[in-house]
Amino acid sequence: MDKAMRVREICDSFRELCSVPYNESLQSYKNDGGLIIGVLYNQVPEEILTAAGILPVRIRAVGSQGTEASDARFTQVNCSLVKHFYDSAAKGRFDFIDGLVATNGCDHVRKLHENWTSVLKPAYSHLLCFPKRQGDDLQVTQLAKEIKKLKESIEAHFGVEITDEALREAIKLHNRTRELQCALYELRKGENPPITGAQMLAVMMAGTCMPREAYNAQLEELVALCQDVEGISDYKVRVVVYGGEIDSIDFFEAIESQGALIVADSLGGYGKRSADMQISLEGDLYTNLANAYLMERPAEPRLHGTRAARWEYLEKVAEEANADGFIQVFIPICDLWGYERVMFATEVEKKDLNCLVLDTEYIFTASGQTRTRVQAFVESITEGGR
Ligand code: SF4
Repeated sequence: MDKAMRVREICDSFRELCSVPYNESLQSYKNDGGLIIGVLYNQVPEEILTAAGILPVRIRAVGSQGTEASDARFTQVNCSLVKHFYDSAAKGRFDFIDGLVATNGCDHVRKLHENWTSVLKPAYSHLLCFPKRQGDDLQVTQLAKEIKKLKESIEAHFGVEITDEALREAIKLHNRTRELQCALYELRKGENPPITGAQMLAVMMAGTCMPREAYNAQLEELVALCQDVEGISDYKVRVVVYGGEIDSIDFFEAIESQGALIVADSLGGYGKRSADMQISLEGDLYTNLANAYLMERPAEPRLHGTRAARWEYLEKVAEEANADGFIQVFIPICDLWGYERVMFATEVEKKDLNCLVLDTEYIFTASGQTRTRVQAFVESITEGGR
């Protein structure tokens, strides 16, 4: 088969897996007796679950049709993401999971975890307290303790033992995933990126909803193929997408349909940032996990005192990808990314950068409006105006 065709085929198969909460790969894993834990957000050190022989699956309310079941449990100042997540859970769309692990990533997620646990009563539930700031050994030590608590809680509930050996193997497996994802990001910096931003989002999300060994095997093949394909040349501008837990491939496609090729990102949920760390195998593995998740991974807005570092990271990503502009995406009422917007606007003004700010509810429906706004943005760059 032609290499470009095979690239498309792998990306399409990843997209297919991301199109429903309980995909074929998960169904076959469950049919073979596998256990699955639903994970809320990317601060959860999934290596612990892998070491326990349990598959971590990131919760996404893809295909959600409404939020009626959430109306009694959330208020108008909760974001649409948590409402869709809860609604899907209440309607049984996540009944395939054997438990739930969340972090105190923001007050909305905490509320989601609280409601899900107290009302829907999953068989297993755990909340990992993630520090709110980077800084010193104290924070790393505290997070390492929290990770150990998660380990002990899983061992007690599922009757398994998480040995250091198993954890080491799990870390190697996850490190390999991150390494391959970074290799793909690296290839997208070139003049003719081998895959689109929408395809990359599918690649990143597929890694959170299928067994990891199989994912890594496909990713190995994809990276090898991408080194050897002609790549995309029919774009008008190169952009970096910046924002929170955006998981809509349709949204990215709407952006790219106007000639704005997404060549890099700094996203809270499924982007480059989650791949930009490697966990050391030397010394105490729990401290290494804590250190990587808290200190090494590029910071998100919830971590106090990291504003300068966040902007520096975004600029570096844009520069390396030779981007012409930024698109900031924002889910209304998300306070974390709402404050980030102010910081973003300040920097953009100071440096006179090309940028577009787009709002989207968690379930993306504003395709026409998005296309129109991106079209105008692209024209403002190509015609030299702003
Ligand atoms: S979108 Fe924002 S407010 Fe909603 S759960 Fe995520 S971080 Fe919290």
